[in-house]
Amino acid sequence: MKHTHTDPHQDIRDAVRALCAEFPAEYHRKVDEQRGYPAEFVDALTRAGWMAALIPQEYGGSGLGLTEASVIMEEINRAGGNSGACHGQMYNMGTLLRHGSAAQKKRYLPKIASGDLRLQSMGVTEPTTGTDTTKIKTTAVRKGDHYVVNGQKVWISRIQHSDLMILLARTTPLAEVKKKSEGMSIFIVDLREAIGKGLEVRPILNMVNHETNELFFDELEIPAENLIGEEGKGFKYILDGLNAERTLIAAECIGDGYWFIDKVSKYASERVVFGRPIGQNQGVQFPIAESYIEVEAANLMRWKACQLYDAHQPCGAEANMAKYLAAKASWEAANACIQFHGGFGFACEYDVERKFRETRLYQVAPISTNLILSYVAEHVLGMPRSF
Ligand SMILES: Cc1cc2nc3c(=O)[nH]c(=O)nc-3n(C[C@H](O)[C@H](O)[C@H](O)COP(=O)(O)OP(=O)(O)OC[C@H]3O[C@@H](n4cnc5c(N)ncnc54)[C@H](O)[C@@H]3O)c2cc1C
Repeated sequence: MKHTHTDPHQDIRDAVRALCAEFPAEYHRKVDEQRGYPAEFVDALTRAGWMAALIPQEYGGSGLGLTEASVIMEEINRAGGNSGACHGQMYNMGTLLRHGSAAQKKRYLPKIASGDLRLQSMGVTEPTTGTDTTKIKTTAVRKGDHYVVNGQKVWISRIQHSDLMILLARTTPLAEVKKKSEGMSIFIVDLREAIGKGLEVRPILNMVNHETNELFFDELEIPAENLIGEEGKGFKYILDGLNAERTLIAAECIGDGYWFIDKVSKYASERVVFGRPIGQNQGVQFPIAESYIEVEAANLMRWKACQLYDAHQPCGAEANMAKYLAAKASWEAANACIQFHGGFGFACEYDVERKFRETRLYQVAPISTNLILSYVAEHVLGMPRSF
């Protein structure tokens, strides 16, 4: 792929690319085949300081902006890896950074920055309430110097590769709050203490090699000091973190999109059928060119969201639109890539089917495309709330 402009983030790209080159396609393929976890890869990213990009320097991180952090995520996916194994470590700490007490920040952030503590997990989704988060049924009841948690979560990622989890639970029953978004709180759960003592973890085998789990809480005790911010404001705190998460995932999809387009344009230029490269046919060229245009356009919205976020400007619409456009563009690129690899697109050794599965997730999680459309309809266009 030819680029005519100079890239202000070339240094970051070069450094992340060099690290990713030590973990070639065979590595990620093998991890996928074994349904394993890319522990060595994530360790290398952590040791090099990339996962601590958004942690301020006073807590041992590199204090970079979302723009730079998004370049790191993009490069991981562009190199054939999957940031889904580790992106939680980059952005989950934002909740603690924004709403944690001085003591909590001092206690956790330097260790998260160094990788001694992994805060890879965030427990929000529940099986019976889904996207309707304010109806969550997991409760945390204050009893003296601790809270007692009961309930269930589903699809909670990276629990088996995390020391800590941020948990959203209801602290005031829905019937007793004025607004349904009130009465929920967030906590830091120390998984090393909780698992087997009130928290049961059941892995969910899924289409992507993504470590994700069902969680069952039965009288789990959490020290009251693990409450983040004020009791009852947890839902707002979670929402505060979503713009960064959505923008970073948009960048991952952009990375996937470029990976698919690089892969398929090369293959289509080399694969000869009917006496000429298949890429000489416009029926093959056009869907690839179209995907490239769509990835490039989505990328503009990603940069816009990053710039607004880093300038501390409202960016909810842009972050959501970037995620929507990028997830769609990477999926279209994935379809063109698998289609023009013919049968070989389905062979694991080409990596196309793996990346195809991985990028598909982002139209459902962490937020589905429909929910982004309803956000834009309501909050940008001023149309009536639909749910
Ligand atoms: C691999 C994986 C990892 C995940 N990791 C985490 C995690 O770490 N932590 C966590 O908390 N959650 C996690 N999730 C959950 C994820 O955020 C949810 O799956 C997602 O938000 C959709 O919720 P749901 O599955 O309950 O779907 P539902 O809410 O049941 O929705 C199903 C479908 O209906 C559509 N829909 C629902 N309501 C409406 C409406 N009003 N209008 C139009 N369409 C609607 C949705 O768009 C969706 O496509 C993960 C999910 C997966 C698959």
